[in-house]
Amino acid sequence: MIPFVDLKAQYLSIKDEIDSAVLQLLASTQFILGNEVKSLEEEFADYCNADYGIAVNTGTSALHLALLAAGIGAGDEVITVPFTFVATVAAIIYTGATPVFVDIDPISYTIDINQIEKAITDRTKAILPVHLYGQSADMEPILEIARRYNLTVIEDAAQAHGAEYKGQRLGSIGDIGCFSFYPGKNLGAYGEGGMAITNNPEYARTMQMLRDWGQERRYHHVLKGYNYRMDGIQGAILRVKLRYIEAWTEARITHAANYDQLLAKSSLTLPRVMPYSRHVYHVYAVRVPVGHATRTPQRDALQQSLQEQEIQTGIHYPIPVHLQPAYADLGYKLGDFPHSEAASREVLSLPMYAELTTEAQTQVAKAVIASL
Ligand SMILES: *Cc1c(COP(=O)(O)O)cnc(C)c1O
Repeated sequence: MIPFVDLKAQYLSIKDEIDSAVLQLLASTQFILGNEVKSLEEEFADYCNADYGIAVNTGTSALHLALLAAGIGAGDEVITVPFTFVATVAAIIYTGATPVFVDIDPISYTIDINQIEKAITDRTKAILPVHLYGQSADMEPILEIARRYNLTVIEDAAQAHGAEYKGQRLGSIGDIGCFSFYPGKNLGAYGEGGMAITNNPEYARTMQMLRDWGQERRYHHVLKGYNYRMDGIQGAILRVKLRYIEAWTEARITHAANYDQLLAKSSLTLPRVMPYSRHVYHVYAVRVPVGHATRTPQRDALQQSLQEQEIQTGIHYPIPVHLQPAYADLGYKLGDFPHSEAASREVLSLPMYAELTTEAQTQVAKAVIASL
């Protein structure tokens, strides 16, 4: 069986270091926040070239706090894409603000910069681009529009640890960048985790307080806060794993180039690296052209065929957020975002993780080509 991600292989490759870090943490009894989390904040912010890191319990919490720190709340609008994981949109709604969708560019799968301005109203307060699959959104035009309309830019970099835009690490380009350490992400905890990074000391201070009940100091609550603190054990684990992230990212990039070559002659549309981007391949998503003869997307048939050959794949994401029942009240309908809708019918994510072998990739490619 070729899994979609292999968390066990990665753990076994660093088992001794992880086990010893966990045991030390247990002995320290710094179960929540503490020195390991503090060091992780410094080291991860450093890795992203940002001044401050605020560790939290999930990537969703990082997005929520970033929006709150930027002063976003009821009556405000935040521009983002419907072709993302639902958390991006949920975080906006948690603040009381309204998500306003802009379609994706069909090549990069990130926000279409040419459609942002027409979505701006008097209520717009922020743009929330998503660096989907590990590739950067086109940040320069986004920042330029944000400057002109006085909007905050919050990056959803949950899939983009170490990715770059024109040589600059993602998350440090907008006002605040948000990361997830969900186990399957490029940098994954052994449980839940997330981080917001920023160069703005006021945003940093606000997020530090908000994640810990809005306390200025113990039992002095100056803000209505949350319990969004990171566990000490995740801090200790992530510090070990951060030392490997560059090697793992380079391995992902090599695997992607290998897939590119193995699948070059197939009828699939392969991922395109934009000229401004260091793509870190959280996901290697191919696009399967829709079949003519059948209403069943050919993508689903390919996934089924691979499953029968014991090759696991993923779909990121099968339903865009504007068509999810939970968000029907936003008032969007089928046809509103054609590129997001087409992508959700056609994308298929192939196995991708640092420990993936060349033999496994060859087997995947053979099975894909034989199934088309
Ligand atoms: C994973 C993810 C999130 C949420 O992160 P959690 O840690 O699971 O809360 C947000 N946005 C995107 C694009 C993601 O992939």
